[in-house]
Amino acid sequence: MAVVENGLVSVPSACAAKRILVHVCCGPCSIMPLKSALAHSAEVCGFFHNPNIHPYAEFKKRLDAAKTLSRLISVKMIYDEAYAPTGFIKGVKARSPDKYPQYGKRCLYCYASRLEATAKAAAHNGFDAFSSSLLYSRYQNHEKIRLIGNALARKYKVSFYYEDFRIGWQAGITESKSMGLYRQRYCGCVYSKMESKANGKHAKKGA
Ligand code: SF4
Repeated sequence: MAVVENGLVSVPSACAAKRILVHVCCGPCSIMPLKSALAHSAEVCGFFHNPNIHPYAEFKKRLDAAKTLSRLISVKMIYDEAYAPTGFIKGVKARSPDKYPQYGKRCLYCYASRLEATAKAAAHNGFDAFSSSLLYSRYQNHEKIRLIGNALARKYKVSFYYEDFRIGWQAGITESKSMGLYRQRYCGCVYSKMESKANGKHAKKGA
């Protein structure tokens, strides 16, 4: 809602974005962020870029779910369909002193690399702002994502569209089920897949 002060209209940053590029990690997590962006912006485009996902069969399922979502809610989407997990693994290992990159530490590189690709694409294509479906997940470090997004906004001179999409957690789950979207059973990387198997349950879902 716009705020009027001393005769001047201040539009909240979320509403000020005319063209916004939203990083899409998977179909289910992207429903609420894309719908919110649609409600606040003149033009919304999704951006599927997830080199963290392992293996290829899982990558393809999430890519297909993003395409289905794009069709169902009529949002344009850019797809980075190149499957290149080697760069992701190298990036994680380069920043991890541990033999086994731990959950949390490894995620910082994972957030930063995907958000940076989104910020770059947004700046390059003349978008006013960028955001990410990572802000929907209850399993991710929300504050770190926010900090990284803000730092990248300064670096690439394009606004970071921040919203706590976790508020729509249950609505997103319900909608993803009614849309019949593929719902993943682990976060995405090879490590989260191994941990999911070892725990025998859904470990840190949401890519
Ligand atoms: S657990 Fe998830 S957020 Fe963390 S590195 Fe793996 S895919 Fe990325």
